[in-house]
Amino acid sequence: MAVLNKEYNKFDKEIKLNDSRKESLKKSRKELRKKIKKWFKENKPNEIKPKFGSQGSFEMNTTVNPIVVKDDEGNSLKKYDLDDGVYFIYKNEEDTKQSINTWHDWIFKATENHTGKDSIRKTTCVRVVFANGHHIDLPIYYKEDGVIELAHKSKGWLESDPKEFYEWFNDKKKTRSRLEAIVRCLKAWKNFRETNNTNLNLPSGFELTILATNNYVEADNLDEAFRETVKAIDAELNRYNGFKCYRPTTPSNEDVFENYSETRKSNFLNTLRSLKNDCIKASEESNFKIASEILRNNQFGIRFPLGEDKDEKFKSNSLKKSLGAAMVKPKPYGY
Ligand SMILES: [Mg+2]
Repeated sequence: MAVLNKEYNKFDKEIKLNDSRKESLKKSRKELRKKIKKWFKENKPNEIKPKFGSQGSFEMNTTVNPIVVKDDEGNSLKKYDLDDGVYFIYKNEEDTKQSINTWHDWIFKATENHTGKDSIRKTTCVRVVFANGHHIDLPIYYKEDGVIELAHKSKGWLESDPKEFYEWFNDKKKTRSRLEAIVRCLKAWKNFRETNNTNLNLPSGFELTILATNNYVEADNLDEAFRETVKAIDAELNRYNGFKCYRPTTPSNEDVFENYSETRKSNFLNTLRSLKNDCIKASEESNFKIASEILRNNQFGIRFPLGEDKDEKFKSNSLKKSLGAAMVKPKPYGY
């Protein structure tokens, strides 16, 4: 039984967004906010002014460094995904609630030519894509009397509260010491599997975050905690009528898996099953290198470090020996 705790922790360090990258993404977000505010000042001076609120993985410390991919011209792209909510807040009767399409359109226009690339109109947001591959999603909200609604282009106005979600997660984290790391590992797993097979379309980071939180298993090392949590997610989803993922916050009781096609569902269950089986296989392997290769080749890619070409048994013997040596009491002075 090779415990890959050291390897998992190294992997987590590798995939975790570091402070300098975080700062540069924040700077990019700040510039975009400035541009949008300016556009409204110049073009819609009598309309509600937009306010902004960060949301998503950035607020939960679960953003991961994406696997670097090349575009057609051979440029390296890092596809970081940021979410920045745009809020139109009703204050008095001069304020007009615009239609969903109008606000989407204005945000689209406000971000036009910001990066030299066209913004993308999506159903739940306007996406601004940058030359180095990262993008900022701008979901649009309207707030009146404390109620927040998301401007959803196909479903209409949907009651929603992104802050509530990240606060829910950050609260759960307090009693689940390895949850953050497990979510990052799951997101890095999704990234690797989808890079190898672009048809996979695994659940979003948001959905994986809910699954990991609800099925979290505590353990005293990350290897075991990750494996046991994956096993618990797999067991839960394969239960009769168990393929569900409820949003824990407003609009609660919404099953975010509801609109999954049969193909998407079985793709996810099969890919998850393969992750679970490899985690078990690696844990049953006594050689660290071989155990790490199982996860590296099929689940996480080369960002997962190679273990030493040593057996667990050998290691524990030598550990015992060194502990034994340390326990020999030094002779007092004078002898
Ligand atoms: Mg996004």
